[in-house]
Amino acid sequence: MSNHPDAEVLKKNAAEILAGLKDKTLSARDRIAIPPQEMPAQDPKVRCHNMGEVAVGYSEEQARVEALRCLQCKTAPCVASCPVKINIPGFIVKVAEGRFDEALSIVRQSNLFPAICGRVCPQEVQCQSTCTVGKSLKSLEKAVSIGRLERFVADEERRAGKSDSPVLPPKTGKKVAVVGSGPAGLAAAADLAKAGHAVTVFEGFHKPGGVMIYGIPEFRLPKEIVSREIEALKKLGVTIDLNFLVGRTRALKDLFKKDGFDAIFVGTGAGLPKFMDIPGENMVGVFSANEYLTRSNLMKAYDREHADTPIFHAKRVAVLGGGNVAMDAARTALRMGADKVYVVYRRTEKEMPARVEEVIHAGEEGVEFHFLENAKRILGDEKNRVTGMECLSYTLGEPDASGRRSPVVVEGSEHVLDVDAVIVAIGNESAPLLPQTNPDIAVTRRGNIIVDETGKTSLDNVYAGGDIVLGAATVILAMGEGRRAAASINKLLAGT
Ligand code: FAD
Ligand code: SF4
Ligand code: SF4
Repeated sequence: MSNHPDAEVLKKNAAEILAGLKDKTLSARDRIAIPPQEMPAQDPKVRCHNMGEVAVGYSEEQARVEALRCLQCKTAPCVASCPVKINIPGFIVKVAEGRFDEALSIVRQSNLFPAICGRVCPQEVQCQSTCTVGKSLKSLEKAVSIGRLERFVADEERRAGKSDSPVLPPKTGKKVAVVGSGPAGLAAAADLAKAGHAVTVFEGFHKPGGVMIYGIPEFRLPKEIVSREIEALKKLGVTIDLNFLVGRTRALKDLFKKDGFDAIFVGTGAGLPKFMDIPGENMVGVFSANEYLTRSNLMKAYDREHADTPIFHAKRVAVLGGGNVAMDAARTALRMGADKVYVVYRRTEKEMPARVEEVIHAGEEGVEFHFLENAKRILGDEKNRVTGMECLSYTLGEPDASGRRSPVVVEGSEHVLDVDAVIVAIGNESAPLLPQTNPDIAVTRRGNIIVDETGKTSLDNVYAGGDIVLGAATVILAMGEGRRAAASINKLLAGT
């Protein structure tokens, strides 16, 4: 498989396949024999110097060929593996027929933001993990590319310049506050507005979108796509109040007492970075991935000519961690001009929680992986500027509670990695402000808000969902939680 498949060549090949299949009734065997369609992508040597989207997206011809690979399984195991239960065979058959508008309508019944999920969902562990085609070919990689097809139908609408003019429902006279504008908050706001409530989203940052705006980089999820979804939400009548930190700007209970809200949804995410707690972590040149990515994405520090926000320009960068956040930080560091970027991970590639595609893309762009290694301390000069990182080597022992084999230190294996910046990407914890300022809201030991099966917290008329409940999870799970809570709030307010 080429690592930067040319879009025109792939389109031409797909057109030939389509011509060959025209007017043919396809058996399951014929469908399985259709070659999986590769995703066209920017050349790694070029893209590591720009912020443009890496994966270019299917052409119409490729989308139709890929859709023809679907067997339309009666049991549709893929649907059960999608957290929001999209009618996957239903939308894919429409793609195969070239009825893209109808395909998108089917997707939108379950997923409000398909252009986003089609790009960032970890499909290999969700919908595509159970695809019958992948199983028949004994290769997860050869499963029907459900996410890419979902992205395609959403992008088609955008390319055609179409947008829904929503029919606004009659007003209920009820007011709902949504705290946080990440995927959980936005999904909740959409469903609440569609029920006729007056919805205000309060967001602490100066831009809405949560991690989709400040965390996931432009080269994976163009911000224009997220902004478009937010504009659609405003057309539904949702008000977005920015630079408004609930718990500081306004106490949670005052949203009821002073502002007259009838219910509140809390979707404040897991934006509190974890650190390693090792010597040298406070040196100049050590960052949390959150800070590094926020400077680059939200403050547009990568746009050196126009941005006011400074970013540390390092030449040799170590990124600690093996998840999506680590991959994003490493690939951003390359784009910010680093000559060498090392991902230091204490297990092996097999145990990495990052999406497979992101790991492959990072490797193609020149990120070097140091597996079975971890930082012991960070070294610095007399001005406390990072000059290196002392590492230890590891082997894998018995599986831990997560089922992954635990890393075990190799005694005496200390060695130094020559770096001038370290980015810590070992995970995030729940945003602490609301629990701290509302001690009666029940939380777990890790600070995640506890909810019942309807999304309700221990406080009356206060619901919660997304990372603040689940811990650092995924965009689609956060959206699903937002929708569940919105349905419960709609039910609650219908009865009052
Ligand atoms: P968030 O997206 O965190 O949004 C919460 C919002 O609430 C933020 O905007 C925050 O500013 C605001 N807020 C917090 N406290 C307050 C307050 N007191 N008052 C007002 N506003 C407040 N998931 C995937 O599925 N695929 C990926 O590829 C992927 N990559 C990721 C890459 C990175 C770098 C990161 C950090 C995460 C990634 N994730 C990915 C995880 C995913 O982004 C999150 O699971 C998801 O965004 C959680 O949504 P949320 O709405 O719960 O919270
Ligand atoms: Fe199509 Fe795969 Fe789903 Fe079957 S499991 S309906 S082949 S996408
Ligand atoms: Fe797959 Fe995510 Fe789309 Fe569900 S929302 S079908 S898991 S890409």
